[in-house]
Amino acid sequence: MLDLLDVQKHFILTHLRPGDTAVDYTMGNGHDTEFLSKTVGRDGKVYAFDVQLNALNSTAKNLEKAGCDPNYTLLCASHHRVKEFVHEKVRAGMFNLGYLPGSDKKITTMHETTLAAIDAAIELMDKDAIILIAIYPGHAEGELEGRLVGERLAQLDRHFYTVACFRMLNSPTSPFFYIVEGR
Ligand code: SAM
Repeated sequence: MLDLLDVQKHFILTHLRPGDTAVDYTMGNGHDTEFLSKTVGRDGKVYAFDVQLNALNSTAKNLEKAGCDPNYTLLCASHHRVKEFVHEKVRAGMFNLGYLPGSDKKITTMHETTLAAIDAAIELMDKDAIILIAIYPGHAEGELEGRLVGERLAQLDRHFYTVACFRMLNSPTSPFFYIVEGR
């Protein structure tokens, strides 16, 4: 059976190399941060954002337990502020939108800040970079967010970006993701 996370990682690994810089725009418990940290290795850098301090604390613990190199910077700030903290080009960016499973469902990503963060993430893209944006359309804000993100990405100039969507066609409320690649 298709595992959405494995498919996401496959796409990231076609771009991200040791020594690169990556951003986890929605840190949560840090599973994506760990994957990015291990992929870029000792000489790379990972920045991770979340608005919840408990997400940051849980990620810090998980990364240490997983034996990650200290190549990460965990930031308790909204992802739309990324350019205040990241002053270099980024090879891979991951957004896993929505709320943290098992936590307060009211603390979810909101389309206004999500769209601003995606615009900033696109501006920060390095050569041969990729951004993945996972959408959870099973709740109202997630459905709206998915639609608005899709509309925004569809406007990107095809001479400079490839934009695609990976979606289960026979299960419309299942999570899906958008891919943005620089050309
Ligand atoms: N990638 C995470 C993991 O591996 O555990 C799961 C991410 S979870 C689906 C979404 C996360 O986005 C939540 O932890 C939530 O607090 C965070 N979030 C909500 N609004 C945010 C914002 N404006 N900026 C950054 N993170 C935000």
